[in-house]
Amino acid sequence: MSRVFSGIQPSGELHIGNYLGAVKNWVELQSRLECIYCIVDYHAITGTYEPADLKRRTRDMALSLLAAGVDPEKCTLFVQSMVPEHTELAWIFNTVTPLGELERQTQFKDKASRQESVPAGLLNYPVLQAADILLYKADQVPVGEDQVQHLELSREIARRWNQKFGVDFFPEPKALLTATRRIMGLDGQSKMSKSMGNAIGILESKDAIWAKLRPAVTDPARVRKTDPGTPEVCGIYHLHKAFSDAPTVANVVKQCTTAGWGCIDCKQVLAASIEREFAPIRERAKEFEAKPKLVTDILADGAARAHTIASETLRQVKEIMGLS
Ligand code: SF4
Repeated sequence: MSRVFSGIQPSGELHIGNYLGAVKNWVELQSRLECIYCIVDYHAITGTYEPADLKRRTRDMALSLLAAGVDPEKCTLFVQSMVPEHTELAWIFNTVTPLGELERQTQFKDKASRQESVPAGLLNYPVLQAADILLYKADQVPVGEDQVQHLELSREIARRWNQKFGVDFFPEPKALLTATRRIMGLDGQSKMSKSMGNAIGILESKDAIWAKLRPAVTDPARVRKTDPGTPEVCGIYHLHKAFSDAPTVANVVKQCTTAGWGCIDCKQVLAASIEREFAPIRERAKEFEAKPKLVTDILADGAARAHTIASETLRQVKEIMGLS
């Protein structure tokens, strides 16, 4: 059976962007494939951060994932630093990864160009990512388009290691491309992200969500209510496609292109669709918040299951490599 691995940064509460771009897909996949989901806290320490804040964000992410439907009965959910084999295998992979490949990674070039002093961890980040996936011999990885280059490097690392030791040990993981397109932020300018301040958290109250949706940027051609618009250029339309049913989405197109609705009418319908999806998630989050030990136990149990697989992979890797 295929094994899926996917990681998510411990960025605190999930927002609509990572909920639609990754986690909804995780929930669907866990019912039909063996899935290992990981909160990748080792990936979150390459920049400056507050240790207490990292702990809180890791915890909040676990709670959000559980509330959003990630089910520990159907998948393995754990925190990366609870399974030390991730960094151990990353070191081993560092010895077969060409420096040039790492320097060519677009995300590295982007991030490094914005920093005066570049930590080696930023460069080696995709090597740890390869270790995350291959430690579990996962052959499928759900990714957005911006992660395809890193996954290609994981495939190359698997190939190089196998070649070096003359074995067919690690599979070359394939991308399971997420159908949802990149979710734009409420500013209509950049990808939705908490750090850009343009995101809606999935656990925010109905009123808080409306306070953010109301002023959100729409088609700039709709200056007056009587000006018709082009739904495709509007972030609100793309959110309708994710949260509203097909007849509502068709009606949005009709009302927008004929100036039947103003943008506020359109946003009110969207707010109702979002509320239908998020109200039960908020309820589940409250239940988990009331039982903090349950969340701790779920993560510990997930780490124990992950460790069983990871330690066996490492044992075999060391034997093949002549390590003790
Ligand atoms: Fe966007 Fe809706 Fe306004 Fe059209 S009517 S521009 S889809 S918010």
